[in-house]
Amino acid sequence: MGVRTWIDSWPVYRQLTGTDPLGRGAAARSGRSERLTPRTATADRVVKSVCPYCAVGCGQNVYVEDGRVTQIEGDPDSPVSRGRLCPKGSASLQLTTGDAREQQVLYRRPHGTGWERLGLGEAMDMIADRVIEARRAGWQWEVDEARTRRTLGIASLGGATLDNEENYLIKKLFTALGAVQIENQARI
Ligand code: SF4
Repeated sequence: MGVRTWIDSWPVYRQLTGTDPLGRGAAARSGRSERLTPRTATADRVVKSVCPYCAVGCGQNVYVEDGRVTQIEGDPDSPVSRGRLCPKGSASLQLTTGDAREQQVLYRRPHGTGWERLGLGEAMDMIADRVIEARRAGWQWEVDEARTRRTLGIASLGGATLDNEENYLIKKLFTALGAVQIENQARI
């Protein structure tokens, strides 16, 4: 009996003799993993999202508990990825909550050799100042006596994981500013 118990605790034996020949379920489960509760089981809600890493745009389920993201998994409802994520997408929980995630604005001045921290308000003001200045510097009322009223001083290049709504707002904003160079990675 003792020998039998030892063999039963051996995953390969369970895989070869049990109901899990591929070793992806009961055969691979240890005593410790039997006692673990998946983070997905205790989540308050699940938010649909899209992996931010690359242009494939795999669907993700983001599990939230007490207002904090606790797990991110592939979304089986996504027609793009059907529940799958590559290793990068599978690690997006780290990207979201890991210690390496920067929580503050970092700025490196022209000719600077290091990063300095800025407040978000200050950084937003600096961006706005630069947009206004570049728009004015590149403004063209007319070209070859034809009215253009445009600026070549600013342009927009969107990432492929921007969603429809974000692309719509970006297009509206930049067109209102007079930019004509508005592109998206997904079309290149
Ligand atoms: S899971 Fe991988 S393949 Fe899918 S969007 Fe993210 S990085 Fe791209």
